[in-house]
Amino acid sequence: MNTLNSIIISSNLQKKLIQIALTSLPFESCALLFGSISKNIITVRFVEQMENTKQSSIEFNMDPDELFKKYQDLSYPNFNIVGIFHSHPGPPIPSSTDIMYMKINPIPWVIYSTTSNELKSFLLDEQLSDISIKNKFVE
Ligand SMILES: [Zn+2]
Repeated sequence: MNTLNSIIISSNLQKKLIQIALTSLPFESCALLFGSISKNIITVRFVEQMENTKQSSIEFNMDPDELFKKYQDLSYPNFNIVGIFHSHPGPPIPSSTDIMYMKINPIPWVIYSTTSNELKSFLLDEQLSDISIKNKFVE
């Protein structure tokens, strides 16, 4: 059952994600979100831009070697990869390809639309659900 209901991304990190998306145009951009999970709330602490090896405006792919390196990166020893970010030059809704990869990566997928300027987060557990994005912790 999906009990995760929110992801905290500070305004500064949201700005960074938007900047990554805009500077990658016309291609989709992608990034890893590092942070921590406690009490069903994810807090993003760092954002690491990844190269979109597809160089495509309709899909993205991360280089497996770069991904492996980031997973082993000791710069953030206390943090895990808690989300996957990418941008869409269209609505911020997971594509059928996204859904396929979301099934094997059941962590929040954060999508920014460079056309509607919306930042959204989704999780595919048993079903696809919206995860609300907050910019600070609220009890
Ligand atoms: Zn997508």
